[in-house]
Amino acid sequence: MGNLYPDEKGATTVKNCREVDKEVRKVLIENNIKGKTTTNNHIYLPVSRGGQGMKFIEVEAEIHMVKKGVYIRSHPEMQEAHESYIQLQGSGWRNPLSDHDFVSTKYGCPDVEYTQTKITKNCKTMKKHIEKPFYEQLEKEWIMNMHYGRIFVKEQPNIELPAYTSPLMDSWRFSLLHSAAEEQVHGLVAILGRRKNCRRGCSQSETAYHVSSACIQDAYNTRHDYVVHWVLKSLLSGLNAPEDIQLQFGKATLSVDFFGMRRVEIRAGTEILTEKRIHHNTPDTYLHLYDPEEIIILEISVAHLQNYRLQEKIKKVRYSVNGSAHIDHTNVDEACRDLNLMGELRSTYRCPVHLGVFVVGCFGEIVTTEEHKNIRKILIKIGINNLKMRILINRSSYSVAVSTSNIILKHLCVVNSISTVIFCCILSKRTQKNDNLFIMQ
Ligand SMILES: [Zn+2]
Repeated sequence: MGNLYPDEKGATTVKNCREVDKEVRKVLIENNIKGKTTTNNHIYLPVSRGGQGMKFIEVEAEIHMVKKGVYIRSHPEMQEAHESYIQLQGSGWRNPLSDHDFVSTKYGCPDVEYTQTKITKNCKTMKKHIEKPFYEQLEKEWIMNMHYGRIFVKEQPNIELPAYTSPLMDSWRFSLLHSAAEEQVHGLVAILGRRKNCRRGCSQSETAYHVSSACIQDAYNTRHDYVVHWVLKSLLSGLNAPEDIQLQFGKATLSVDFFGMRRVEIRAGTEILTEKRIHHNTPDTYLHLYDPEEIIILEISVAHLQNYRLQEKIKKVRYSVNGSAHIDHTNVDEACRDLNLMGELRSTYRCPVHLGVFVVGCFGEIVTTEEHKNIRKILIKIGINNLKMRILINRSSYSVAVSTSNIILKHLCVVNSISTVIFCCILSKRTQKNDNLFIMQ
């Protein structure tokens, strides 16, 4: 842009870039990549910080201006050009050096030593220096405007969203999930907006939060089972199960004994019988390993980000503190020690018993909490290496995110409202054919 418009100022170029950004956002809305009411801050935040990772042309242009200046001042082959630019600058003409100085003054960039060997390092330093306040500002506004932004930023830097960077993720799903996280789904009420009861008749307010994680829906079980399925899959491969043990896609029940690296029994979806009857006795996965003997109980849960840690706590209390009463969010804090599955197994088998809790956020979030680190340690110790662990996390996150987007769409289709059906059809048009199938269902 500097070459195209030599007579305009650097500041004008930057302003023009901002206009282009506005046009880009319009295209994003037209193509369903950004919801009309989702925040702007959010689309420009990197995916790792919970945003959509779109580049802001204005800031990118500024970074390029600075990088170009650093290069011209540092590279020996640029010396001649450098001198000509100094002359231009002296007579008040716009040139790459004046652009560099303009941006560098605007952001108060640190002084650097202009030598060839430090070009890469200096460019990186400048880029970081310019980006940092920009992202901080975006984050600040996101926190201010959005409840989800607040809880997301609170978990940083220990939160990731592998589903959003998956090459399989459709852009409309991506956009729908973002809108849902920010309570901006067309057809549902916002948390602070006027109240409308859930169309499924559960007498709760019909917010995106409610639909994606707190309603009465069978689909939650399917979503949960996908994660169990991926866990079982990685257990089978990590423990070297014979190839004839097959697990059908989406299946979350299993009962097998085999000799792989060592003797293993896996039970999933079945009650574990103990001498004294226990209420919470059906963990998602029960793993009995021999030589040396140990038992591992794995519990899986899908929760809204705001309840992530609460879910971990509930699971932990159910299996390691009090398994005889029904424990949920209402009484988890008052639970006192009583019979529990881990204690019973320990006294029956007289071997170490471990509990691993794996929670996935309903939009695909993974938070590296203490519990998350703990289950990672347990799984790695029995032979699921880092790569397999990564695959497990990515697949779980993706499956949950896709299921949640389906749950929201299906929910909107429950009423006989023509407008929502049309809405779904528009969305389905933008995606692959197999999604049409589910719309028709
Ligand atoms: Zn409901």
